[in-house]
Amino acid sequence: MIAYLERFVQGNDVESRQNDNDDDDDDVVDCTSLCDALDLQGSIDSVATGLADKDFGGLRSIKPLALIRPAGTDDVARVVKAARSSNLTVAARGNGHSINGQAMANRGLVLDMRSMEDVFEVGMVNGTAYVDVSGGALWEDVLKRCVSGFGLAPRSWTDYLSLTVGGTLSNAGVSGQAFRYGPQTSNVTELEVVTGNGEIFVCSETENSELFFGALGGLGQFGIITRARILLQPAPDMVRWIRVVYSEFEEFTRDAEFLVTQQDGDSFDYVEGFVFVNSDDPANGWPSVPLDSNHGFDPTRIPKTAGSVLYCLEVALHYRNAVHPSTVDMVVDGLLGRLGFVKNLKFELDLSYMEFLLRVKRAEEHARAHGLWDAPHPWLNLFVSKSNIDEFDRAVFKNILKGGVGGPMLIYPLLRSMWDTRTSVVLPEGEIFYIVALLRSNFPYPKGPSPEKLVAQNNDVIQHCIKNGFDFKLYLPHYEIQEGWKRHFGNQWTRFEERKANFDPLAILAPGQKIFSRIP
Ligand code: FAD
Repeated sequence: MIAYLERFVQGNDVESRQNDNDDDDDDVVDCTSLCDALDLQGSIDSVATGLADKDFGGLRSIKPLALIRPAGTDDVARVVKAARSSNLTVAARGNGHSINGQAMANRGLVLDMRSMEDVFEVGMVNGTAYVDVSGGALWEDVLKRCVSGFGLAPRSWTDYLSLTVGGTLSNAGVSGQAFRYGPQTSNVTELEVVTGNGEIFVCSETENSELFFGALGGLGQFGIITRARILLQPAPDMVRWIRVVYSEFEEFTRDAEFLVTQQDGDSFDYVEGFVFVNSDDPANGWPSVPLDSNHGFDPTRIPKTAGSVLYCLEVALHYRNAVHPSTVDMVVDGLLGRLGFVKNLKFELDLSYMEFLLRVKRAEEHARAHGLWDAPHPWLNLFVSKSNIDEFDRAVFKNILKGGVGGPMLIYPLLRSMWDTRTSVVLPEGEIFYIVALLRSNFPYPKGPSPEKLVAQNNDVIQHCIKNGFDFKLYLPHYEIQEGWKRHFGNQWTRFEERKANFDPLAILAPGQKIFSRIP
């Protein structure tokens, strides 16, 4: 088997082939022989399928040696062991929704995690329900099966659910529930992981805990998550989804921070927010605020003192069908009554819990219909400390991005105490920090500005944060060189390096993150 792999590897030295856009077609993989050699239950696809050298970002194309569809954990372990002896790298690919090639492997082996065998087992531990699912499961499938089969649902989500469990757990997984339950990485009690040594471990807070916490937010560096145990709660039937508008940033942040620091029961179940442009621009302006086409946005309500951008607080309340609408109205009015948004710039919609959680799917369908889904997405995600968020608003939203980004500019507060600092995720200091997400979506390339220009604008934002000493971190980080990663991890770098030495000493895993180089 190893001799067979070595035949491919001749001339494929990972160190000497770092050109992302190397279109060389010399490496033809005999898939049947490779499959036999590895003795896999799954299959190996010709890389001509193109799946493995693309991602949602559309900014780079990196060709692997082969795309492998593992049938289960044993296949994953076999592939990693084979790569270990053959100077190859291995990238787990979730649903390829990274922006900067993080799930790619230059002349390496890409594992399509979505092909993993179906795992779905609901159980109870210490009175709390959980579900065991495959690392390659899509969150939208986890939602549908948990709700329809058991009336249960995970507690913490991402906004968009066509992402895999292993992919978001390797980052954090953040949405409007994270203020209450923490990110998705705070809602997992057990993992099954294949390390870079090709060994299979079950790990948790008490068993192989260093691997458990390392893998959570570990950017795929320490192991491939093949199974995850996710905490569940009873699913509500319905959601009241509400947007209210602010002209002043200080009032917006004051109310958002108020809501995320209230006790359970004294606040909404979901709190997010976004910045939009004070104009009639369809993608960035007033029309982007109403929740359905029957709602109009009346710009005469905007105070005369408003500037180039406005702010929208987005909240949601869960409820059961059995609850009378007047009770829902009363709770919502009570909570909204404590907020200082612009009167009469309020939008509300009642929808089922599933429709609410799958809301971005509708945006995906719209984008696909307009040819925007497959266009490049030079997105930027940051965590910015509360201590710098006013300055960030002045310099970035009101200045660098005052014309918008052709898509949502999310901003909402999160609480550090809801994140477990034993995981590999790094955060700004201080209890309250904001997630800022520049989701550039409406630039049909090549008609709109070039992706390079938008990446340069992202870099201007990052440089502004660095030059002004902001307390911030990139979320879904991307750096080209290790110095950038050392700065990113700061005083956590030593821990990160030690975990790498323990669990993937030859740096086989997740080469697309460009943190460590493969050790021959
Ligand atoms: P991939 O992009 O395939 O992989 C990401 C990284 O994880 C790679 O390094 C890969 O090697 C590694 N990896 C993948 N699977 C595994 C595994 N099983 N074990 C170990 N490592 C693995 N994020 C949020 O937090 N909140 C949001 O609301 C949100 N919304 C999004 C909306 C859209 C439209 C998109 C495109 C992205 C969004 N994201 C959001 C970002 C998303 O969480 C990350 O891009 C995530 O990595 C994508 O998951 P994926 O399954 O496609 O992973």
